[in-house]
Amino acid sequence: MENEKKAPMISPGLPMCAGCGMELVIRVLYEELKDDDFISFGGPGCALLTTKVSVPCYGTLFTNMAPSASGVSRELRRQGKDTVCLCIGGDGMFSDIAFGNLSAAAERGEHLLVVCYDNEAYMNTGIQRSSRTPEGAWTNTTPTGPKGFGKKQQQKPFSLLLAEHNVAYTATCSPAHMQDFRKKIRAAREAAREGFAFLHVLAPCPTGWKSKPELIIRQCRDAVNTNYFPLWEARYGQFRITVKVKDPKPVTEFLQTQKRFSHLTEDQVRQLQEDVDANFEHLLKLC
Ligand code: SF4
Repeated sequence: MENEKKAPMISPGLPMCAGCGMELVIRVLYEELKDDDFISFGGPGCALLTTKVSVPCYGTLFTNMAPSASGVSRELRRQGKDTVCLCIGGDGMFSDIAFGNLSAAAERGEHLLVVCYDNEAYMNTGIQRSSRTPEGAWTNTTPTGPKGFGKKQQQKPFSLLLAEHNVAYTATCSPAHMQDFRKKIRAAREAAREGFAFLHVLAPCPTGWKSKPELIIRQCRDAVNTNYFPLWEARYGQFRITVKVKDPKPVTEFLQTQKRFSHLTEDQVRQLQEDVDANFEHLLKLC
């Protein structure tokens, strides 16, 4: 199952929105794995549009990606092959609908490299809230104005939950820290030889975040600099911060470029800041 080593591995002219963070994430992933033999598993979601690629692809439903990939991975290993089974999906898939199956694959230590591009909502079906949608954010199912104040709940810390399965490798990644991101793709690829590896990548969606396409790298940088999306890795439950931020900026730096937060009251911003600080304190205790 030798991949064609032609560049680019993803066809130009795909129908993504301008500035799509997910597309960038997948391009970098494929580029970094181009010398490996790999199969790409994809399910419903915006990433399904990336099936115009020069690598073998296996389409699944939301709920059976991890089980399908586990079966393929086991058979390839039985044949003595060192093929990477790369599962790609959004937050709606991995943090919500398929979380149970993903947790089961993690607990079994399946040899998978799972990558979640987190655009913080169900984008391809019309911007509905997911468990990764931040508190206060507007989506079509968390309205603002006379009908509400955006999402009421905090984000599910699903990459921490997966890391606590004591898996071979888990990390958070940002397109604004490309060296760190690429290093983690290589680390996850190596770890998938030992067991389960998971990468959680923040992937801004200008359409759902109601923001300008040219701002996505700035948003990724602001997310790290405000501790909203800290960068860390964990090997078998041993956590480490990989990008240390000396003087964290207020979370408003991250919010201000996105109209999905433009309705927030001072109290809501204060609450969000308190939650970001508390989540970061929790992470530091794990490190
Ligand atoms: S809706 Fe968002 S995630 Fe989907 S293609 Fe457009 S920018 Fe990318």
